[in-house]
Amino acid sequence: MKIAPDLFFYPWENYTQNNCNSIMIGGPVKVLIDPGHKRPFPYLERAMTADGFAMDDIGMVLFTHCHPDHMEAGPDLAQLGARLALHPEDEAYLKKIGPAFFQSMGLPMPEVKIDLHLREGDLTVGGKTFQVYHTPGHSPGSICLYWPEIKALITGDLIFAQGVGRTDFPGGSGRKLKESIERMSGLEIDIILPGHGPAIIGRPNVAQNFKTIREMYFPML
Ligand SMILES: [Zn+2]
Repeated sequence: MKIAPDLFFYPWENYTQNNCNSIMIGGPVKVLIDPGHKRPFPYLERAMTADGFAMDDIGMVLFTHCHPDHMEAGPDLAQLGARLALHPEDEAYLKKIGPAFFQSMGLPMPEVKIDLHLREGDLTVGGKTFQVYHTPGHSPGSICLYWPEIKALITGDLIFAQGVGRTDFPGGSGRKLKESIERMSGLEIDIILPGHGPAIIGRPNVAQNFKTIREMYFPML
């Protein structure tokens, strides 16, 4: 689904299988954000191919965080030539809890080699400049990616439409999640592309969503 020029959103709409939404940024360097699980990857590949993308033309795979439902398919794309990008705190966290995490889901731990550390600040890829925000809470090294040109925020599992990311995994923190959400709510945002569930489009809807989260979820965090 094309959201804006060079911005494609692939929501995961099969509710019987857990997998994440994926986002593709087009242009001279293609960036795939959160490729999801390995097994359902052919569905994503089909949708991306229909939009004119080739898997061996993906220059970078960027992970919002290191949970298996967001990153398991990443190493396969690295074999096709993509560079893998993750926040250093989630790289360390993956090394520590990854094997047990994958095992609990009945999956083998993939071999992941991170080529690029995502750090708070500007990230320029293929002539486009994004801002990386370190937004811990769901995991220690979770990030949000902001594209100022079109005021789009890619949130991973920080927030969803009418919801927030879990904080009960190891390394999760309700207090940090709340702080990260407050910080992101200060940005000018017209589009939110979350890690699960539908996109939130339009500034009034974005504002309403932050309001609902504050009212409904903050007291529990
Ligand atoms: Zn997660």
